[in-house]
This record gives sequence, structure tokens and C-alpha cells, in this order.
Amino acid sequence: MSSTASAAYPLPSLSDGPAGLMLEEVPLATLAERFGTPTYVYSRAALTAAFRDWQAALAGRRSLVCYAVKANANLGVLSVFAQLGAGFDIVSGGELARVIAAGGRADRVVFSGVGKSRAEMRQALAAGIRCFNVESAPELERLNEVAGELGQRAPIALRVNPDVDPKTHPYISTGLKSNKFGVAFGEALELYRRAATLPHLRISGIACHIGSQLLDPAPVAEAAAKVLGLVDQLSAEGIVLDHIDLGGGLGIRYRDETPPSVAAYLAPLLAAFGDRREEICFEPGRSLVGNAGLLLTRVEYLKHGEEKNFAIVDAAMNDLARPALYDAYHEAVAVCRSDAPRQRYEIVGPICESGDFLAHDRELALRDGDLVALLSAGAYGMTMSSNYNTRPRAAEVMVDGGQVHLVRERETVEALYAGEHLLP
Ligand SMILES: *Cc1c(COP(=O)(O)O)cnc(C)c1O
Repeated sequence: MSSTASAAYPLPSLSDGPAGLMLEEVPLATLAERFGTPTYVYSRAALTAAFRDWQAALAGRRSLVCYAVKANANLGVLSVFAQLGAGFDIVSGGELARVIAAGGRADRVVFSGVGKSRAEMRQALAAGIRCFNVESAPELERLNEVAGELGQRAPIALRVNPDVDPKTHPYISTGLKSNKFGVAFGEALELYRRAATLPHLRISGIACHIGSQLLDPAPVAEAAAKVLGLVDQLSAEGIVLDHIDLGGGLGIRYRDETPPSVAAYLAPLLAAFGDRREEICFEPGRSLVGNAGLLLTRVEYLKHGEEKNFAIVDAAMNDLARPALYDAYHEAVAVCRSDAPRQRYEIVGPICESGDFLAHDRELALRDGDLVALLSAGAYGMTMSSNYNTRPRAAEVMVDGGQVHLVRERETVEALYAGEHLLP
């Protein structure tokens, strides 16, 4: 494999330079010097390119791409998408506050999630969001009540559960009958009829989201066909929808996966959609940010055991939970060339859990103090981080050409217990 081809890396703006790995025009080693480690590093060019892929594939259609904030909620990241005209898919009042703080437009926000509180409903109504994606009958009743108290009509879509198997990891599949998300497909018609009678709701659309890290467009196309059938049935009853939201879920390359391009993923959906009049919406998260970010970490110790070699690094499962949680694979790359012998390492963190690993059995040339980049960490990395073991969360940095922006300061230990109190 060529060591200079940037296509070797799933992150398109990463390349090998004279000072080791570079993201856009900035050596990662410089970032580690300046900001310390562990640090999440994002590429504005990669975020922009990923968003433009969606825009281009939908060009000429009435459409909206709502970035799924839970994949990466950093204000710097959100502001990049806001400037590109994105909508946002949120799952909490906290995410709504972030979108607004980042300059996102409330009237392009859709609100998903099975457990919306009254306070979150009030917050979203006051902000004037575009649509509530309602996930149950009691949520529909509650939203009608809350909107009535505010003298408003809440725009709604029902999130239906089309019961198709997305053929992905069981923890990230959401469109099967057996899971907690959405309204059962067979109950949707009845629930729309009910919604049509509620005075403080305005029926706007329909939504579905069948799972994540999808590598095959077929299950989504199957779900879309079911949804379009339902839309036509509703229309025959005089319940006319204005938008159809087909969710997120497009997968990315972590290792050797070959996800479809955005255009190839959308092709069967757009073909099924034809020249329908409804607006078509999507809620991509991972495919917009996953391969626009990496986690930069430094080797604390190399420990050569009887059976295994360990590279103990300063990032851990609290920083990047996916390997411990899903046994997920992240490419691990040495940032600088080294004359150290190549050996197979377990890349592990300092946390007191055997599950605290970041990568298994990787051949790397490393010495103490070397930097390692864990790739494809832009999605569900920082947003799933915790303070386990009283570890302050990592800094986050955005590279933009030759410029570098600190988009989140490293947490301090004092800040972690600032809200705690001693007993008298
Ligand atoms: C998580 C989620 C998304 C984004 O999923 P990705 O796989 O990251 O694209 C979109 N919509 C809903 C409702 C979600 O829960």
C-alpha cells in the first residue's frame, strides 16, 4: 500500500507529510504540542465535503438535510453545518440549546426521541421548531396539551416503525417491531386519524429511521416504499402530508467496509420518490462527521507481556466508548515514522476495567511518548464520552486549511466536582 496516498485513510483530508501525519495543512504533532492529548481533531474541509455530498445528491428537489446532533454536538461542528444551511435533528432540549447557540435555525430543527418531557416540548414550541417527530400515542396527547397551554399548534410527524431489518449491529438497529422506537406501522393510520382531531396539532409529515451504520441501501428503500404507501393511504383520507423524513443511518468506512456513496444510497429512494410533491428530508449523523474526525493520543507506556504487548495510551474508554461498547473497530495509526520495531499491540487506556481497550492486535512501530491517531472518531466519540475515573474530557480542535481553532477546552478536574458538596 502506498504510504503517501491519502485515500489510504478513511479520513479524506489526512495525509503523510514530512513531519508525520497532517490533517489538511496542519501536522498532528503540532496540535499535540499545542493542546495536549487526548484531543479530538476535526477537519472543516471533511465536514463541508460530506455535507456538500448530501446537498449535491438532492439538488433540484425540495429537500432538507437535518444533521443528527447526537453524533457530534460540538458548537464548532454545528456552526459549520449551520453556515452550510443545514437543518438539525435533535433528541433533547439540550441539543436544541446547542443548535441555537451555534447559529442554527430553529425552523429547520426536527425533534426526535421517545421521551420528550413537557419542559422540552415548551422549549421547542417557544423556539419555533419545524417539526416534532412523535414516537407514541401518549406523546401525541401530551404535545397537544402543552401546545394548547401555550396557545400554539405544534407541527408533527409520526415516526413510524416500518419493521424492516437494517442488517446492522443489534444495538444500533431501530426499525424492528421489537424495539422501543417509533409507532408500530399497523397503528400509524389510526394515530394520524386521532392527530387530525386534536386542535393544537398540525400534521406536517412522516418520519422513519431504521438503524445506523447501514451499508446496504435496500432496507431503507424497503422502508421508504412502505412509508410512501402509507402517505398515499393518508392522502386518500384527506390527511395530506408536506414532508417525508427518511432518517439517517448511512454507514461509513471504519476498516474495510464499502458503504455506498451518498448518491448511490439515495438513488433507489429518489427513484421511488419520483416527482412526488412532498419535501424529502434526511437525518444523517455518522456519515457527516464520522470520517471528519480523529482522536489524538500519546503512548504513556509500552508494556511487553508474556502473551501480548500493550500500548497504554492517555485516551481511554471514557473518551472513545465505541470499542468497549460495540467492539467497534477504529484504525490506529502512528503519527510519526519511527525506527522502533513493528510489533503487535493491544491499544488500551488507563481506566481500571478490562474492557478499556481502543484497538486490538494492531501492528505498529512505537516508542514511549509517540502519538497515535484513532481514525473515524468524529461520530459518537466525544458525545458518548464520560468522566469515569474522574478523567476530564478531551479538548476538541477544528482544523481549517492551515488554521486551527480550539472548539472545546480540555476540562479541568476542578470543574468536574464544582457542583458537588461536602457533608457538614
Ligand atoms: C441517531 C439518529 C439519527 C442519525 O443516525 P446516523 O446513523 O448517525 O446517521 C437520525 N435520526 C434519528 C431519529 C436518530 O436516532
